[in-house]
Amino acid sequence: MSSQTGAIVEQSLQTLLGDPSFLTHLQGEVREQAFVSLNAILSTPNKAHKAFLRIPMDNGNVVRIPAYRIQHNDTLGPYKGGIRFHESVNEEEVTNLAALMTLKNALHEVPFGGGKGGVVINPRNYSVKELYLICKKYVQYFSDVIGPDKDIPAPDMGTGEREMDWMMAEYKSIHPGMPYLGSFTGKSVINGGSLGRREATGKGVYFTFRYMIHDFLNELSDLLVDKTNNPYAQTALAHMNRPLTIAVQGFGNVGAVAALEAYKCTYLHNKVVAVSDRNVTLYHPEGLPIPLLIEFAALHGGDLPTTEAELAEQGVTAQILGREDVLYLQVDVLILAALEEQIHQQNVELIKARIIIEGANAPITAEADQILMDNGVIIIPDILANAGGVIVSYLEWLQGRETQFYEEEQVFNQLYNKMQGTLRTVLPLFFKEPVSLRQTCYNHAVMKLSTVLYRQGKLY
Ligand code: GLU
Repeated sequence: MSSQTGAIVEQSLQTLLGDPSFLTHLQGEVREQAFVSLNAILSTPNKAHKAFLRIPMDNGNVVRIPAYRIQHNDTLGPYKGGIRFHESVNEEEVTNLAALMTLKNALHEVPFGGGKGGVVINPRNYSVKELYLICKKYVQYFSDVIGPDKDIPAPDMGTGEREMDWMMAEYKSIHPGMPYLGSFTGKSVINGGSLGRREATGKGVYFTFRYMIHDFLNELSDLLVDKTNNPYAQTALAHMNRPLTIAVQGFGNVGAVAALEAYKCTYLHNKVVAVSDRNVTLYHPEGLPIPLLIEFAALHGGDLPTTEAELAEQGVTAQILGREDVLYLQVDVLILAALEEQIHQQNVELIKARIIIEGANAPITAEADQILMDNGVIIIPDILANAGGVIVSYLEWLQGRETQFYEEEQVFNQLYNKMQGTLRTVLPLFFKEPVSLRQTCYNHAVMKLSTVLYRQGKLY
């Protein structure tokens, strides 16, 4: 587990230890011992599976590609989490991401544990046929440890519906006669996927921001203004009920959808003034036409326009800036929906946004996190903000089991209900104590896991 996640989990355990209402009947040494076991359970994965996928390439060469499936914790249900195709994938990163899934599912009361997979490739460098073989081989190597009641993979960076469809088909042929619809989530709708799964993470990211900064604060502002003990509450209150400018880093499945949601949410008069991808940042102080940019990206391999000519062709007026510039603009809100570790010690002081939302997993390093907090910035953490994907994965898994499928509206209603339920639980805790929202979320997730572990007799 990365030092950041590990440190926050440890801090949560310390908080629990100081909470007289937790495991009250355990006294003295027994109680201390229970916390040592908890730390051991949460800081290491249950199982780490590794393989080298042997892939015949189109040019006749055979390559061996490292691949992982890390099963962090299954206290709350089968392991669950995406499979990432990226050249920077390594065991430590996948382990950390698996731990985040355990905490994310616990926080949102999704009855799954946490897992994650990864393959060390840049998918852009492989042909469709080669990618198909990589997906097939991945399932062949890990077929004994995954399955609808064991470990349910889903898309992550570099994978999507196409890969899940291929993988489920392979799983089905290895396990003939067994239920298979629940073996992978994030499949295409025609192949047993759920309506709304594709948009779920981005929609959930925007919902979390809107609910926290607008709806929830409006309900509670009278209470909060004088009573809160939390320094970040002042930052939140200062942004309530006024039009905000928003910048979005990343224009993939999460960033583009979150940007579109913000664009469509006209009653708040917020403006998406910047979006970025791996090539550029596009900026316009009066707001960008997100639907036109989505249309362009759909026709250009997911990329935003990079030249004046392309912008003109699409009827978009915007300034073209460097891809990193999105992070440093004078905006109120920054949505991070690209890679990990985008804000770090070297660039943190350049950040001007007062509200940061983690659409990606772990986009801020531990050091930068601390500096941002010292500057009074509110960070809406990954496990809270980007859980839309796994929540709708759970709905997809349920639909697959029942072979009964929901309307799209039903999916989004259930998604928002679930996220709202979590927010209504953690936000009052957050505003009560002078801690970060990340720590509040971890505390809540660890409390839930610890209680269940204790009930299952696993703490001694
Ligand atoms: N990869 C996504 C995440 O990090 C979704 C996982 C899932 O649907 O299982 O939350």
